[in-house]
Amino acid sequence: MEKSEIKNRGVMLVISSPSGAGKSTLTKLLMHDDDNITLSISATTRQARPGEVEGKDYFFLNHDEFRAKIDNDEMLEWASVFGNLYGTPKEPVYKALDEGKDVLFDIDWQGTQQLHAKAQKDLVRVFILPPTASALEQRLHARAQDSLDVINSRMKGASRELEHWAEYDYIVINDDLKISEQKLKAILYAEKQKRNRQQGLVEFVRDMQGELRLKFED
Ligand code: ADP
Ligand code: 5GP
Repeated sequence: MEKSEIKNRGVMLVISSPSGAGKSTLTKLLMHDDDNITLSISATTRQARPGEVEGKDYFFLNHDEFRAKIDNDEMLEWASVFGNLYGTPKEPVYKALDEGKDVLFDIDWQGTQQLHAKAQKDLVRVFILPPTASALEQRLHARAQDSLDVINSRMKGASRELEHWAEYDYIVINDDLKISEQKLKAILYAEKQKRNRQQGLVEFVRDMQGELRLKFED
């Protein structure tokens, strides 16, 4: 008798936070050590920051191009954030999940709510908090990618973004980066052991029971 195989169903792992709390940094660390994770590359109408690469950090679109994608139902979710449109192209997400990959989303609370409505059973939501308000401000300055005006508008928006922390399954306070990385890895690892994410368990246990009965029952 051939042993029944167990396959893991991919997790849709959302990481949200106020801008500057450390999402992108943690996302990169998570992906570095795990070949099975695919990052969902969002589309946006905002300008590329210095060093950002088309198709790697974002798909940079103009307003009309973005609207056309919404109209053609090509977006899994989309939202207006800080006056720009951001959205998740649908097709690559479904392709990755079909291949058994875990998909990581760096999206805001509005997008998370939309994914929750569409794909609750596959979704794991993590909210990253900065250790303090001043650490958040310092990190935005340290990143040195935004103008002072943009940094100030992000700090103004942070309090409103924080209102949504309780809509998430897990909260990670990103003080020590290494510890936050370990916490995120632990969350993903534990979520993958959930019964509903292990396909083939019924057959696996049934086969084992068959073997036990054959060998040990009178
Ligand atoms: P986000 O993607 O949430 O906007 P980033 O990942 O770009 O934030 O992080 C903002 C800045 O803070 C970056 O310069 C990053 O190196 C730094 N940073 C991230 N996490 C930590 C941490 N735990 N301690 C100190 N600096 C951090
Ligand atoms: P940034 O401009 O700093 O790259 O991103 C600003 C905010 O937009 C962040 O909170 C980020 O999570 C969010 N964001 C990025 N991509 C998407 C997306 O595809 N959908 C939604 N809803 N938010 C996104």
